[in-house]
Amino acid sequence: MKDDGNKIADQAGVARPRRLLLCLDGVPYKMIEAAKERGLFSFFGAPSRLLSPFPTMTNVALSTMLGATAPPGYESLYFDSASREVRGGVRKYLGRRTPDKLPSSYMDQLDYQEPLPFEFLVYVAPEAVWRADMRRFRDRFRAAPQTRDFFAFLKGTDGLLHVRGPERLDAALQSLDRILRDIHAWCGAETEIILFSDHGMNLQENQRVHLQTHLRRCGYTVVDRLRDDGDRSVAVPAFGLCGYAALYCADVEAASQIADALVPLEGVDFAIHREDARALAVKGPRGVARIHRRENGRGVLYRYEQLEGDPLQLAPILHELGQDGQLDQYGYAPDEVWYARTGDHIYPDALANLHTSLYGPRVRHTADVLISFRDGYYYGASLFSRVVRLAATHGNALRASTSAFLMSTHRTFTPQVRADAAQPLLKG
Ligand SMILES: [Zn+2]
Repeated sequence: MKDDGNKIADQAGVARPRRLLLCLDGVPYKMIEAAKERGLFSFFGAPSRLLSPFPTMTNVALSTMLGATAPPGYESLYFDSASREVRGGVRKYLGRRTPDKLPSSYMDQLDYQEPLPFEFLVYVAPEAVWRADMRRFRDRFRAAPQTRDFFAFLKGTDGLLHVRGPERLDAALQSLDRILRDIHAWCGAETEIILFSDHGMNLQENQRVHLQTHLRRCGYTVVDRLRDDGDRSVAVPAFGLCGYAALYCADVEAASQIADALVPLEGVDFAIHREDARALAVKGPRGVARIHRRENGRGVLYRYEQLEGDPLQLAPILHELGQDGQLDQYGYAPDEVWYARTGDHIYPDALANLHTSLYGPRVRHTADVLISFRDGYYYGASLFSRVVRLAATHGNALRASTSAFLMSTHRTFTPQVRADAAQPLLKG
């Protein structure tokens, strides 16, 4: 039985039109904007930028956007902080999708997702998988009862972009436009189609970061299981080829030293780690800063404290906030003010986004250190990087990966939507 699915079903067709929710994995806002300019998806309203949470990965994004339970880790291979070892991985793909293999409750709400073998095939034969996936989705949707919402997740777009690049995705969007046009004509105004993506993508050739080699050179032991005496040990699960890395180590002190050691490594944009109860350290080649958070009667406030340089390139905005009288005596400004000024910054909504990535519940086993790589760099399993030439990827906190999209045939949303504000729009 579907818990949340039934809640949706109760309202569908009664209080509001029935909905087709269709998520396209990894399609960036920019590409949808361009497709609309070429005349595709003309029956949809203007797209909004949906801000994908850091690290910009599918399970982190969709569980946040749908208000579902947090997945155990950032990917199916993850570090378990209780047993202090790396778990999951390819084993997940063997056999059926049983409840214990579902990383987050949003998967329980899906009426359609690709058959399991596609998850790997998509990186080998992305066009064939995408075509078959789209046909299956269309047939399944047509066969579904028209009295309740339908939620589908098409993953083929992510594979097409990773392996083939933006030109092939444009062709795929053309065929999707035809299918959705048919569905729209067939269902009429009684069905609202909401098309959105989980995260964006940087559309450039990517090279591997030699993270483990660098850590070993700095005197660390890279392990799958952390022991009590292992203060020079670090676990770094390597799976998909993505623009972030999650590191697990002995304690806060070790995390701080590891982040320092990462700064000179080619491809590192910045590393973040927890400092004390509320402060987050940001360390990169452009400097060191702290993000502070506090709450008062009016809401949440953030402060950007530059210790050396300006790792997040926020100095000009901080200066403006001071001139506009938006900073209190301790240098804090309200969350909504930061959001309004930095939503389309190169690190969108950086203070709230990065702070929540280590202090919030995005995953159950939160990393001790998170790295955001520069566009053009990735970390991941060497097995995959031998098979795949990477034409594009996602995972970091930069604008291209953070900018997903959201649009509807019946409504227009605000130009910018935070991931954790998406749930009432999608399911309310
Ligand atoms: Zn994705």
